[in-house]
Amino acid sequence: MTIGWHFDNTYSKLSNKFKEEIKPTPVHDPELVIINNELAKSLNLDFSKIDKKKLAEIFSGNSLPEGTNTIAQAYAGHQFGHFTMLGDGRAILLGEHLTNKNNRYDIQFKGSGRTSFSRSGDGRAALGPMLREYIISEAIHSLNIPTTRSLAVVKTGEKVVRENLLQGAILTRVASSHLRVGTFQYIAATQNLDELNTLVDYTINRHYPEIRSSKTKAIDLLNLVMEKQCQLVINWMRVGFIHGVMNTDNMAISGETIDYGPCAFMDEYNPKTVFSSIDKFGRYAFSNQPPITKWNLARFAECLIPLIDKNEDSAIKTASELIDNFQNIFEEKWLNMMRDKLGLFGNDKNDKILIKNLLNWMKNNKADYTNTFCHLMGIETNNEIYKDDNFKNWIDEWEKRSKLNNSSKEEQINLMKKTNPIVIPRNHKVEEALTDADKGSLKKINELLKVLCNPYFDQENIREFQQPAQGINKKYQTFCGT
Ligand code: AMP
Ligand code: MG
Repeated sequence: MTIGWHFDNTYSKLSNKFKEEIKPTPVHDPELVIINNELAKSLNLDFSKIDKKKLAEIFSGNSLPEGTNTIAQAYAGHQFGHFTMLGDGRAILLGEHLTNKNNRYDIQFKGSGRTSFSRSGDGRAALGPMLREYIISEAIHSLNIPTTRSLAVVKTGEKVVRENLLQGAILTRVASSHLRVGTFQYIAATQNLDELNTLVDYTINRHYPEIRSSKTKAIDLLNLVMEKQCQLVINWMRVGFIHGVMNTDNMAISGETIDYGPCAFMDEYNPKTVFSSIDKFGRYAFSNQPPITKWNLARFAECLIPLIDKNEDSAIKTASELIDNFQNIFEEKWLNMMRDKLGLFGNDKNDKILIKNLLNWMKNNKADYTNTFCHLMGIETNNEIYKDDNFKNWIDEWEKRSKLNNSSKEEQINLMKKTNPIVIPRNHKVEEALTDADKGSLKKINELLKVLCNPYFDQENIREFQQPAQGINKKYQTFCGT
């Protein structure tokens, strides 16, 4: 009865600067809530022959798999612009699991007890936010966007104290690594060049082996991370995802979406959309995500300065030029992504205006971001606003531009169908499912997950999952996932 774990832990072999060796705090009465068998299979793990009680022991950390070497990772971060020393305050890395193809994945518990980085926190997590991370990260994965994933959630059988008493839970998170911009900030802050070099080499070995023997590793790494992050934020903009807390500690060097706290998907198109209750000034609003990505990359670049050039002025000049180019790279990629959303091949000098006109119309008419593109693909969403004359005029312009494509309507629709999701995790649907889960019923979560795992396909009976929130539910607010 083997599960198939194959731990090979490289991060825990780094010096103690990088981590604290610590075990998860055992929990009182663990109970399995959900397990992701499809993800397990892709990791060459098989839990099908393990009974639920044993699974609860495993995913609560009460019984650690062989080969693990549990640590809490050190990192720092700019939180809403302010630099702080952080670290895994409620997460513990079990180790790195290797798949049959030698792909390496971090297996991490979130909510597994206090560590030396916990500050005033209890090291625990509540069931709602952990299931929310499970749903949204799996949805993001199915939308073909790089992300950490969720393998299991257990209830701990203990209460956590937040505004109310809540059920405690632990999420098992799978990531290609947990290296963050904040990891570099932590090491850079100690001004130990050897350790900074170690971190750069470690990162390159793990994520960017193609520059292993480069003579300009630091600048190459910066370039590659910039490319990955740019692509990631474009993907978020494509599907209307708002991360909500793009602090530098929540920005993965691998380019995966990480740390699902107050994130949510936008319904009505408004570039200023913010869901997080603590984001009072809209720092992480929908349209601010690209400039914040650039800001975070600048913080990453600062860490690398001593390795870019021995002459600090030259290093700063090189790094600044690179970061300053982010806007140009982003603009071009964004334009191409929007062309895909509209099924436009090639390019035309008026494309930007055409796209901006649609976005302006959507904003002025409070049109649903996802459903507007569905409407353009001929998927009915029963909305009267598309009868608006201004919208019809825009359609005429779009059709004129489409004819420049030299391609068929079918090709156009195929491109759009690959780019525009039909279903996203609608906030009210997620909340409904979480409310039921808190009472012990997983029926709605399972229904939701089933629909969300095929977001580009017009499935039967999904109309209720396509509708944006109505009435009071429209004023959606999220809270940090603590
Ligand atoms: P997050 O907002 O989840 O990105 O977390 C920011 C920082 O706060 C990280 O260092 C977390 O480990 C820490 N943290 C969040 N919640 C808790 C908690 N309940 N107990 C201890 N540390 C926490
Ligand atoms: Mg975080």
